[in-house]
Parts: sequence; structure tokens; C-alpha cells
Amino acid sequence: MSEILNVAEIFGEDVFNDAVMQERLPKKIYKDLKKIIEEGKELDLATADVIAHEMKEWAIEKGVTHYTHWFQPLTGATAEKHDSFISAPLPSGKVLMTFSGKELIKGESDASSFPSGGLRATFEARGYTAWDCTSPAFVRHDAAGATLCIPTAFCSYTGEALDQKTPLLRSMEAINEQSLRLIRLFGNQTSKKVTPAVGAEQEYFLIDAKKFRERKDLVYTGRTLFGAMPPKGQELDDHYFGTIRQRIAGFMKDVNVELWKVGVSAKTQHNEVAPAQHELAPIYAVANVAVDHNHLVMQTLKRVAHEHGLKCLLHEKPFAGVNGSGKHDNWSLITDDGKNLLEPGKTPHENVQFLLVLTCIMRAVDRHADLLRESAADPGNDHRLGADEAPPAIISIFLGEQLEDVINQLVDTGKATRSITGKQLETGVKTLPDFVKDATDRNRTSPLAFTGNKFEFRMVGSRDSVAGPNVVLNTIVAEAFKEACDELEKVVNAARNEKEKGENFVESEFNRALHDLIKRNASKHQRIIFSGNGYAEEWIEEAKRRGLPNIRSMVESIPALTVEKTISLFENFKVFTETELRSRAEIKYENYAKAINIESRTMIDMASKQIIPAVIKYTKSLADTVVSVREAGADCLVQAELLSQVSGFLSETKEALGKLMEVTEIASKMETGRVRAEYYYYEVTPVMGELRKPVDALEMIVDKEVWPMPSYGDLIFEV
Ligand code: ADP
Ligand code: MG
Repeated sequence: MSEILNVAEIFGEDVFNDAVMQERLPKKIYKDLKKIIEEGKELDLATADVIAHEMKEWAIEKGVTHYTHWFQPLTGATAEKHDSFISAPLPSGKVLMTFSGKELIKGESDASSFPSGGLRATFEARGYTAWDCTSPAFVRHDAAGATLCIPTAFCSYTGEALDQKTPLLRSMEAINEQSLRLIRLFGNQTSKKVTPAVGAEQEYFLIDAKKFRERKDLVYTGRTLFGAMPPKGQELDDHYFGTIRQRIAGFMKDVNVELWKVGVSAKTQHNEVAPAQHELAPIYAVANVAVDHNHLVMQTLKRVAHEHGLKCLLHEKPFAGVNGSGKHDNWSLITDDGKNLLEPGKTPHENVQFLLVLTCIMRAVDRHADLLRESAADPGNDHRLGADEAPPAIISIFLGEQLEDVINQLVDTGKATRSITGKQLETGVKTLPDFVKDATDRNRTSPLAFTGNKFEFRMVGSRDSVAGPNVVLNTIVAEAFKEACDELEKVVNAARNEKEKGENFVESEFNRALHDLIKRNASKHQRIIFSGNGYAEEWIEEAKRRGLPNIRSMVESIPALTVEKTISLFENFKVFTETELRSRAEIKYENYAKAINIESRTMIDMASKQIIPAVIKYTKSLADTVVSVREAGADCLVQAELLSQVSGFLSETKEALGKLMEVTEIASKMETGRVRAEYYYYEVTPVMGELRKPVDALEMIVDKEVWPMPSYGDLIFEV
């Protein structure tokens, strides 16, 4: 019998959460901290001292020796600097374990090794980490022992954001402020806060760790740079399936337990389309917590995989020709008292607040489609978006039949008078209940789909942080809300000034203006709605006719960060300064160039030291065979033909290798920045493709025994 797992008991056991705080903190301190968390006030040092002390005591009981400010620099991963709790030795030779409020709320670290895009001169390499007290501290257990992790934001000495979290928190303030204005206009005087709720679904691959180590491309770049498709399709043989399931199931169980302990509500897990591909989704949380949790999910997947002799691949496209991995960012706006602004209700055509919210989102997305596209750009995602798989690189919104019909009514007649209702779904099985179908069906090809009471942004790469996309969603929607509120408040105030006309007049004026605004937004931005097949060639043509941007690569998307409309958007809502945006663009170009540089060098290395030597050996053995077969007086036509075929591909390989060495050399000598990134994209990546072609052809004809690395078949079918 395996031990019984008590989920309720282990959930959050390693988190300094509300329950722990309530139990351990003095009443007044607890109340003060709650207020700070709820109302976004600043924490004073005296309060912080008490919290830090209790946090340390709690952590020590869990065997913690070190604490770390856990932050999210612009490398895409998380970073930390560890300090132990011990104080300077006492005269007695003993030490005390201490942790002050100052150490809790602010850390200083040498930040020169993190990308700053020129924001921080190296002589001024100080960076500060500041506690994000709205995301709880937790204890992590790993080979280093137990560590108290404090989620923090990371800024430069002059307060510029050097991380993903700072702008996210700023954008949450912006959307909160504008959403509150909006709901007040509709008579809600009681909700105190509106926060973006985010649920991030994570896709990943699992392969055998030993085989992983036998592939330099996987080790250095996270994806395969060579590899022919396995001859067999994607079906697995039954026997095999059984053993795989056991190994993966054991892995998934451990992942869930580890995540539950640190308070991540891992909820669903299933196999994905590709063999060896899986997905994990937690229940949604407040945006900044959800982003932190997604980082924990990625780290936990990797760590637990290691313990199981597996390797977790988070790259967007580990295997060419096999479905890639992404992250679905589910997003909605929810008040502190639980009202979802994206809830249409049963009769959306009558729900005017919802229609305003919806048409504002249409406006936001249409106006900033390029920026939203950019937020999902990373080197790995170039292989998914707009390439041979979903979702397309063109931003559009899928609303579903019901809402699209409401929007059509608004645009056509100026009034929406009905909502299509869901039909009864008959299962045809007596023992199964018939249920009412959702009025909205699914469209799997849409990059931004309305799914019931949330939008699902499906472009994000599996390795990327979801912070960036949420910063964009929060801010562009805040902007559309602001415009709407400015307009409507003005009408209401003007009507109120005509005192003699009374409240009814105010209301009818408001309704008239609201109606105009909804209709205007819907008509002006209807072009962003698309419910057809997003993978079809015709959509590319149609999108072009509609004037929607089709940005196919990371390098081409980065300029969206620094165009005038982006700068004024972010400056108006104090999410980014122009300087921060320019530095981020620099960092992105640099990250791209670095990624491709590593890939091309890895290809050069593998081709020169592994593939070409192996093929040469093979040709030698073929040549020897030809000679001895001929000497024996037999027909050696097949051997000779194979030899000439292999030699042909070998010389193509050698030629492409030479070319790749040349362009890589040129690129690496260029000055960092846009031009260099473009050179990598336009000049280096095509040559990488040229080198891959003959090598993959060789893999198909060279004896498997001599091929110097595991094949696709070995990697994805034999986990
Ligand atoms: P799907 O709809 O994609 O099949 P789910 O219904 O399980 O899958 O939801 C996917 C993710 O969306 C989960 O993380 C879930 O918690 C999250 N989610 C559900 N409702 C909301 C909401 N209102 N806002 C944000 N995320 C949500
Ligand atoms: Mg989904």
C-alpha cells in the first residue's frame, strides 16, 4: 500500500501565508500588514522587523538556514542571492540567527551580471530588490537544504525597473484605478479593488536524461538542431505505452506534491498532442502571484524531472516537425468581492457594462496588436508563431457565435436586442445527463479567444515569463477604460450640472453616451474579430486586407516597443519610462543575438566534431566493402550507389558548414544591437537551415550504429 496523500494538509505547508501570519503575528501587526497588502500602502520598518522575526522563527522550524530575495531579471529565468541567518559570532563563540525588517524588505545586490540594456553603468552596478508583500514568502527544499524565498522586485539605484515584476505591479495599479472608475459609473460603490486574474497553462516535454546528455544541441540550446523525423508516425505501441505511463505518472505525482506544498494549486495535467509532451495548469490567481507561481512550476518540473532520471524541456520547439510548446495565459478582471468584469451573464446583449468592457478590449487589442505580439516574442517562439503551427502570428480575437452576433447587431443596427442561447447537448446515452452547451464554441486556432468569462492569450512561449503579456494586457485595457471613463464621466457631470432636470436626465444622458461609445468601439474595431481557421492561407490575405499586422519574427516585433504610441501608452500609465522601454528593446535584440549565436556555434561544433567524422568513418567502411565485394567477384552496385549518395550529402554538409562558420564569425564581431540581431535572423538562421538539410538526409541513410547521437525516435518515443 502506498501512503495516503492528504492534500488538504500538505497544501501550502511551506508558505508563510495568511493563516500562518494570523496565527503567528501580533494582532495589530497582522492587521497592519493585511491593510498594506489590500490597499497597497508602504510597509514601515518597525512593522517589518516584527514580521521578519516571526518569519525567521517559522522558517527555522522548517530547517531553513538561508534566505534569499527571489527576483525575475530580464533573462527570462529567476535569480537569487543567498544569505544565511547567522549573525557575527558572539564573544562566547556562538552565533545567533537573525533576520531584520530591513533584510526582509530590501536587499542590495551586485547587479552587473544581469541585463540592463544600458540602464545601469557598470561603475554603478548596484541593484535593489524590494519585497512584494502581495506574493507570500515560501520555503524551498532542494540539494542546498531549505531556503526561505522572498518574492521581490528588482530595480536600479535610480528606481528603473530591471525585472519583469516591477512593471507588472505598476500595470496592475493602472488597471485597478481605471476599472474602479468604470464600475463606479455603473453604480458599484462597494468593490474596493479590481485585479487581473491569471491562469497560466504550461506545456512541456519530458525525455530521458541520459539521452538528453548525449545531445549537445539539447544540452547547450534546449532544442535539437539536427534530427530526421522518425519513420513511424506518432502512434505508440501498447506495451511501451504502459511503461511510459508509469514513469510519467510517478513524476507528475511528485510535481503536484511539491507544488501544493509551496501553495501552487496545480489542478489539471494531461498529455498533449505530441508524443512525450504534457501540460500542467494551476487554478488562476492574482496576476503577480500567478507569474511567481508559473516560475515555480517551471523550476519544479525541472527539478523533479532530474530526480526521476528525466529531463524537462521547456523550449518552444525542441523537435522540428513535432508540435511545439506554449503557455496559455488566461486573463480576466475580478473585484475584491468576487465580481468578474468579463462575465457576460446569460443575456450579454442586455449587460451594458460587459459590452463596454468587451468593446474596450477590442479597441485595446486592435490598437496595440503589434505590442501584444511583441510580448510573446522570444527566440524559440519564432519556430511556432506564423511558422508551421499554431497560433498564427496575426493577432485577432475570437468571440464565439453568441458574442460575435451581439457585436454584429450593434454594428449593423446600433442596438443589440437578442442573444443566441446555448442548445441542449444530447449525449445519446441515457445514464449521462444532457447538458446545455456553452453558447460559445472553441476555436483552437485563435491567438486570443474569449472562453466563457476570460480571454485566453495563446501566443506565449513555453519558456517565457507570462509577466510581459500581462503587463501589455493590463495597460492597453487600462488605456481603453480610461478613454471610456473620461468620456462618460464628462457627460454625467455635464448632466448633473443641469440640476433642474433631475436624476432621470442624468441617467438617460449616460445611457445615450454609453450606447454611442459601445457602438463606436464595436464598429471601429470589428476588424480584429475573426472566427475562421487561423492556420489557413486565406486568413493571411484577409488580415492584410483588414490592415492587421502580421509580424513573423522576434526581430521584426521588437520595434513595437519603441514606437510613439507605445511610449505614450506606458508613460501615461507610469508602467515604463521611455528609457526603460529603449533599454528593454536593446536587451531583447541582445538576447536574440546571443541565442542564435549559441545555436549556430553548437551546430558548427556538432557537425565538425561528431557528424562529419562519423560519416567519414562510414564512407570508409562502405568503400572497403565495395572493394572486398568486387574482389569476391560479386555485384557491388548498391554499396557503390550508397557510397556516392553519402559522399554527396557529406560534401553539401561541409560546404554549408563552411558558410555557417563564415556568417557566424561576421555576426559575432558586430556591435550589439538591432543591426546585429537582424544579421543573425536574416543571414545566420537560413544558413543553419542549409546545414541541417544534408545532415538530416544523412541520418536517414547512414547506419544507426555509427550515428553519433540519439535519434528523434529514441528521444520522444523511448522515454
Ligand atoms: P480551458 O478552458 O483552457 O480548457 P480551464 O477551464 O481548466 O481550461 O482553464 C484554464 C486556466 O484558466 C486555468 O488555469 C484556470 O484556473 C484559468 N481560469 C479559469 N477562469 C479564469 C478567470 N476568470 N480568469 C483567469 N483565469 C481563469
Ligand atoms: Mg486552455
